[in-house]
Amino acid sequence: MAGIKKAKPLDFIKFLGTAGARFVMIKQLRASGGIWISSAGSNVLVDPGPGSLVRCEASRPKLDPSTLDGIILTHRHLDHSGDINVIIEAMTEGGFKKRGAVFCPEDALEDDPVILKYLRQFPEKIEALRAGSRYRIKEFSFQTSMKHIHPCLTYGLKFKIGKTIVALLADTKYFSGLTNFYKSDILIISVVFLNPRPGIAHLSLPEAEQVIREVKPKKAILTHFGMSMLAARPHVQAEVLTRKLGVEVVAAYDGMTVTF
Ligand SMILES: [Zn+2]
Repeated sequence: MAGIKKAKPLDFIKFLGTAGARFVMIKQLRASGGIWISSAGSNVLVDPGPGSLVRCEASRPKLDPSTLDGIILTHRHLDHSGDINVIIEAMTEGGFKKRGAVFCPEDALEDDPVILKYLRQFPEKIEALRAGSRYRIKEFSFQTSMKHIHPCLTYGLKFKIGKTIVALLADTKYFSGLTNFYKSDILIISVVFLNPRPGIAHLSLPEAEQVIREVKPKKAILTHFGMSMLAARPHVQAEVLTRKLGVEVVAAYDGMTVTF
């Protein structure tokens, strides 16, 4: 089908950022805008980190945050939540249009909240996520994982786009039983470190390899890269894993779109 017209809405996931943890984000070696999901007519933005609004506007075709139906925060860390307030303001057209839903772990709303109190009445609802629960944003439904091991409340996500099960494995330390939740066709996995860094609750590449072995998705997408992963060139590492595991493994890049 040559010459796709822009009028037809497609289901897609677009990476508005692939930065992981502090330094890649601070230096913007990769962008940190989160992941935009368009599914069955619903638009959802996951983890709008610093620059998310700018990445939406700079997208081609442009992504308009005032068309968002929901925002999901996997956890409160800045690389995931830096732009959440401005995105709430954009989703609700400056607070003049009460619309959209916001889902986040409880500690994003409590003392020292990342979601400012003054705009909490802008969306239709703000709901605190719980482990192993199911939620709905219009036609888009998603499930939360068990509680991850990370310095703040963190949940991964799983949802269906058409018939494809997509899982997003957010920041965590590896633990046994982690992969039980993540059985999926497409597994998006946060890989911060090239080598394990005991004491820091993030996955490394060998741990991501173990996760992919256990989950056996049709396709694994590595993202959320720290400095050591960038230095090792994620796409090269992804090719190595593809050969080793017999599963298609790709490295996400800023602006990468997966269509369904
Ligand atoms: Zn984190």
